[in-house]
Amino acid sequence: MEIKNLQENWDLVVIGGGITGAGIFREATRMGLNVLLVDRMDFAWGTSSRSTKLVHGGLRYLKDGHLLLTKASVEERERMLREAPGLVEQVGFLMPVYRGTSPGKWSLDIGLLLYDLMAREKQHQFYDTRDFSALTPHLKRKGLAGGFRFFDAQTDDARLVLRLINEAVASGGCALNYTAAREILRNGDGKVTGILIEDTETLEKKTISTCAVINATGAWGEELHPSPDKKRHLRPLRGSHIVFSSSVIPIDRAVTMVHPADNRPVFAIPWEGAVLVGTTDVDYREDIQKEPSITKEETSYLLEAINTFFPSLDVSADNCISTFAGIRPVLSEGKLSPSEESRDYVVWKDKGLVTVTGGKLTTFRKMAWDTLKAAKPFLPPVRFTGRRDPVFFPVPDTIPKEDFGLSAEIWRRLYGRYGKAADELVKTAATADLTTIPGTFTLWAELPFTAKHEQVKHLSDLLLRRVRIGLLTPMGGKEYIKRIQKLCESSLPWDRKRWKQEIRDYLDLWRQSYSIPGREK
Ligand SMILES: Cc1cc2nc3c(=O)[nH]c(=O)nc-3n(C[C@H](O)[C@H](O)[C@H](O)COP(=O)(O)OP(=O)(O)OC[C@H]3O[C@@H](n4cnc5c(N)ncnc54)[C@H](O)[C@@H]3O)c2cc1C
Repeated sequence: MEIKNLQENWDLVVIGGGITGAGIFREATRMGLNVLLVDRMDFAWGTSSRSTKLVHGGLRYLKDGHLLLTKASVEERERMLREAPGLVEQVGFLMPVYRGTSPGKWSLDIGLLLYDLMAREKQHQFYDTRDFSALTPHLKRKGLAGGFRFFDAQTDDARLVLRLINEAVASGGCALNYTAAREILRNGDGKVTGILIEDTETLEKKTISTCAVINATGAWGEELHPSPDKKRHLRPLRGSHIVFSSSVIPIDRAVTMVHPADNRPVFAIPWEGAVLVGTTDVDYREDIQKEPSITKEETSYLLEAINTFFPSLDVSADNCISTFAGIRPVLSEGKLSPSEESRDYVVWKDKGLVTVTGGKLTTFRKMAWDTLKAAKPFLPPVRFTGRRDPVFFPVPDTIPKEDFGLSAEIWRRLYGRYGKAADELVKTAATADLTTIPGTFTLWAELPFTAKHEQVKHLSDLLLRRVRIGLLTPMGGKEYIKRIQKLCESSLPWDRKRWKQEIRDYLDLWRQSYSIPGREK
């Protein structure tokens, strides 16, 4: 939609189309509010497409004494597993125990017991050395004293954001990507009355009226709302990952590795047919407006973890598929090391402007409620939704009568990612496109469908966030670009010159921010 056609009065404007903004947008539309969401880049362009993709309690938060954060996260994990099959799925974790290292077997056992209690189910189990090695055959054997198996959950972070946005739009909300909030407008008493937005592609501007504004811009939060606490500001921390093919790191459960250099947990996690290794945790000192990328030092750090724990695999930068990096905002006085900083979120209020930043993908719903509660005095009278109500529209839990030859697993994945729209995606697809793109679980048919229905403005939106083949296939899927163009030509109204430019821009961006630094391109 062009912003000149946008209606002028809104109950609420949400700035930021990451998981935080998307969760608030979804909850606010469920309450019947008239809500506009804007993102100056693409939906999920920020940290919400660059996370470790876990929907988890976070054992390390337990270790640091953040019991309530862990408990809230475990409850949300359990709820999302029930509500969003195919989008949020259980993943097994293995945690090896080595003689003479910390944390030892007993403290891990207690931590995992607490974790189980929070989920109200006994899930973890200890295996002796022989049985544990059988679970993960390539793991370093020297000093191994057995290990634990437990469960958490994982998702496709960008698709989680998109499902929330799509369902909020279906409930009457309006969401615009490539639309920036430039200024918060106030009356003489300082109360928020509106907002100035700008289409970042056409540079067209528009002033709109609103009762309240929620600033959910993550690491960019202080651009619109400076911290009310002069001593504590948002400290951007970068976390990076490397993606390997599952033939390079053949694991079928996630493995927790305690990094030999600093004792931080680093994960190797099977995801969408590949394996993610991450994350790092370092101060981000570059220009925060640019796409972050992994550095050589972070690459070496992650490779050191993998090669310490899987020495026989001889993993190197040469056999990685891609990399990605995200920025985590933490409210800080700057005195602690990055990994010691709290991962909890903060909510600031200022006469109709409410800012929420920090936190986790996993707790988006709790963050949405707390933020909407803070905005309530400025909103039209509404009834808050029940906290036990499902946030997602229900989807069938069985395959349709006409299954188009797709397995139950594929239907589950499609319903999880596209909600009810999965039926139309499959019905309108050519039979040849109901097959997977090599090395991924993505169907070719997802490309033209999402290109047509999900506000794709650039090729990078399509390949990095609507589907994830930019992360999952070598060179960002370069070898498939011609087929992708052919498939999507009718969904994307681009002439040949524009396609050429989009392809060039996408591959340049991929080399700059998603490849391994220093490797021959
Ligand atoms: C490396 C890493 C791994 C992580 N792993 C996990 C994990 O496994 N599980 C988990 O639960 N959490 C994880 N997290 C935390 C989680 O990813 C973040 O808390 C979450 O993604 C933040 O979402 P957000 O919506 O607040 O911010 P973002 O996703 O960054 O969204 C902010 C949006 O605001 C937009 N914006 C900025 N300024 C403007 C403006 N002026 N106008 C309009 N739009 C604007 C940006 O374009 C952006 O899209 C991880 C974080 C990092 C860094």
